[in-house]
Amino acid sequence: MSKSYSFLFIGFAAVLSLAINFSIINGQPIPRQKLQFYNESAESIVRAALIEQRGYGWLRELCAIGPRLSGSENSLKAIYWAEEKMKSLGFDSVWLQPVMVPKWVRGKTEKASISYSKKYKNKKLTIVSFGGSIGTPPTGISAEVIEVKSLDEVKYLGDKAKGKIIFYNRSFDNGLLNTFEGYGKAVDQRINGAIEAARHGAVATIVRSVQSGIDNIPHTGVMNYEEGINKIPAAAIGIRDADFLSNALKDEPALKIKINMDCQIFPDVQSYNVIGQLTGSVKPEEVIVVGGHFDSWDKGCGAHDDGAPCIQTMEALDLIKRTGIKPRRTIRCVLFINEENGLRGGIEYGRFSGISNEINLAAIESDRGAFTPRGFNVTTDSLTFRRLQDWLPILNKANIDWIRPGGSGGDVAQIKNAKALFGYVPDVQRYMDLHHSDNDIFSAVHPREMELGSAAIAILSMLLSEEGL
Ligand SMILES: [Zn+2]
Repeated sequence: MSKSYSFLFIGFAAVLSLAINFSIINGQPIPRQKLQFYNESAESIVRAALIEQRGYGWLRELCAIGPRLSGSENSLKAIYWAEEKMKSLGFDSVWLQPVMVPKWVRGKTEKASISYSKKYKNKKLTIVSFGGSIGTPPTGISAEVIEVKSLDEVKYLGDKAKGKIIFYNRSFDNGLLNTFEGYGKAVDQRINGAIEAARHGAVATIVRSVQSGIDNIPHTGVMNYEEGINKIPAAAIGIRDADFLSNALKDEPALKIKINMDCQIFPDVQSYNVIGQLTGSVKPEEVIVVGGHFDSWDKGCGAHDDGAPCIQTMEALDLIKRTGIKPRRTIRCVLFINEENGLRGGIEYGRFSGISNEINLAAIESDRGAFTPRGFNVTTDSLTFRRLQDWLPILNKANIDWIRPGGSGGDVAQIKNAKALFGYVPDVQRYMDLHHSDNDIFSAVHPREMELGSAAIAILSMLLSEEGL
């Protein structure tokens, strides 16, 4: 650093420290010493996360277990792994909270091809069954295809849908800045497409994979059936094959495709939320929950959805502990099971938090991938919202630029009486290329991006624990 630059730097630092000394938290100026403690702690947390990258190492171990579809053997292995990990980190208490979860098994057969056509016969199409779908008969289903762009369009098909395979082919809107918005606008085809198609007599449905990426690797996800309406098989088709099929149908509207799937639904099985906490040293009855959903889909290994984000919340407790902070209030990590296809873990924790004598102060959910930190969504009252803005200079040390009104996450939203519910928001540009697919693997997670997220969650947890709300 040159002399003139170092002079400038000292001047800037002086102005900054002056500004920080007059920061206001809780409507009162924070005593200088306390503020210095928060700033120094935040810096230590960020450095420890970035240098030691412990959480990233745990993610490697977790991904080696494989995907964690709730109800599967693997999910139980991962649950016991997390329980042991929390114990080895010396959390004050660690326990498993029992939850019954649905069990759906993909099976071995999952294929589609063009079965009747002059030009395209035997062309293979890449599909993946949706979670919860029934299988086809062993001989498969072969039928003509009707392409539609919306559920509404199926309503107007009337009798034409009878005996056909409905092909939902509305694209993900890549023109939107927020990929979650693009997802939200396309995903109804996957979730309710089979119901609408079956209502009009269709025999199966295939849906253009809901994704921002342009590869041909289809994304799975949950789908619904409706009581009283015939259950039909439903699968995603890779987007390149979807484009191919769409063009082929223009050429030969009477072509047929054949689908074979042997996925099955089984009775519910026993599973668990994994819970570990640092017990508050002054107000142990006031609880801050941090967590994500520990189950994943059975494609890839659920590295971004939601393995790394779960580990970020576990690492947040470890970072606080390692920095030497004894939290005033209880900070509890909850790894919820079954968010993807039932939300049973979130509902069970919500039930528990509703009847316990504890005070549910706040909860932070991490379920948007483990990319570079951007901000926190929060659901709270306007007074608390204004107070939280004063914490931004401290959170900024982990690259957090904003706290905005917004949704937290499916699991922590089950905690009905919390004063504030946060959703951690990293950059979301790459998330919809991967989630629920074979692309969601360990190598897709960048250690610095992931670790900054752990640090951001640790700093917010520390501030909530020390300051209260
Ligand atoms: Zn998720």
